Amino acid sequence: MKNWIRPEIAALSAYHIPAPGEWIKLDAMENPYRWPAELEREWLESLQNVEINRYPDPAAIELTNRLRSTMNIPADAGVVLGNGSDELIQMILMAIAESGRTVMAPEPSFVMYKMIATYVGMKFSAVPLKESDFELDLDKILTTIVEQQPAIIFLAYPNNPTGNLWKRADIEQILEVAEGFVVVDEAYHVFANDSFMGDIYKYENLLVMRTLSKMGLAGLRLGLLAGGRKWITEIDKVRLPYNINTLTQHTASFILNHAAVLEKQAAELRSNREDLLAQLQQLADSSPLIQQVYPSQANFILFRVDSGWADKIFEGLKLRGVLIKNLNPASGALSESLRVTVSTKEENAQFLIALKRCLEDE
Ligand SMILES: *Cc1c(COP(=O)(O)O)cnc(C)c1O
Repeated sequence: MKNWIRPEIAALSAYHIPAPGEWIKLDAMENPYRWPAELEREWLESLQNVEINRYPDPAAIELTNRLRSTMNIPADAGVVLGNGSDELIQMILMAIAESGRTVMAPEPSFVMYKMIATYVGMKFSAVPLKESDFELDLDKILTTIVEQQPAIIFLAYPNNPTGNLWKRADIEQILEVAEGFVVVDEAYHVFANDSFMGDIYKYENLLVMRTLSKMGLAGLRLGLLAGGRKWITEIDKVRLPYNINTLTQHTASFILNHAAVLEKQAAELRSNREDLLAQLQQLADSSPLIQQVYPSQANFILFRVDSGWADKIFEGLKLRGVLIKNLNPASGALSESLRVTVSTKEENAQFLIALKRCLEDE
């Protein structure tokens, strides 16, 4: 049979995600906390009333209203929900894809922007971040915008995998110069001290994307996109009916009704992040093998190790039962870099002990 698979798809390697094993899992920015036992019991009881023989509410009205209030979405903004924000990226690009059109993003950033651009047959234009501190190279971005006229620009705020929050003024300039959409991806907003949600009315081209994944509900798969009603109405047309299943709608509404629980967990993780940052920095001060620990406004920390050491440390940690993310295979600006998710005090301590052992074990 003829090979009907598009060449750009055949050229991709499948997105690899390690199967969960017996690890202390610090590779995927998951929230390590469960809910208080009483709340969990209340949730399980409430599930008895869920009618899974029926199709879900196609517009997820109750859930959308809860999200509007807990996420402070401006009243006049449109909102569309996705099966994780990954699906929202896919929906946006399906709505605007035309051959010859360009998706732009800084690099390194979230890999799905480029992958989904490829799936839908769009060009992808990467503008490197500044090497020293992973800030936006604003001059380069602005000239690239003028030259290439991207249909859309993705800005992760804070950025994954670098963890930093770019300068608000830089993003405002991009919003002003770009004639295409600018998606501010706020997957980590609960760990950061700024947001563009309140700016939707100021910029016609601004779309703000959020997810519940990093807030503690990764298993539910729920993301949201907010922006001008005119655009959200168009993007909503490519959404598959019933993309937010009944159990997700019910469970997300339930926990958002107790949003203080999630807020407390996020506050705990922010505090644990400051501790872990300080401890990693201390380790870097005493060991030449850890070369740089980057600041973070997210629930993970990026650090760079000495030449030849990222793979060794990654494998050494695995042998000691700790799984983090090795970014060395991505090479370029991420050579010899590792990313660790901030977890409970206990798991962070276990990670640090294992890391120290790896460093002693030369
Ligand atoms: C994790 C992540 C997402 C994906 O979130 P889901 O809602 O789980 O699909 C989107 N953007 C960034 C920057 C992320 O790090």
